Amino acid sequence: MDGDLEEIARADLIEREPCPRCGASPGSVCRGNSGVVAVDHHTGRYAKIPALKAGTSPDKSAS
Ligand SMILES: [Zn+2]
Repeated sequence: MDGDLEEIARADLIEREPCPRCGASPGSVCRGNSGVVAVDHHTGRYAKIPALKAGTSPDKSAS
């Protein structure tokens, strides 16, 4: 359950920043080219959040 909380906190942090990639405003989710809500936030959006950048591991299930 801690993992779920971390995911929620992570999304909350990311959504405080505007997205440089798709132009999503703070508090909004990322959207793809066709306006469809993206499955995950664009990398550029959380690259400037050190804690998230360091903690992001795309293959964390492979360990
Ligand atoms: Zn975006």
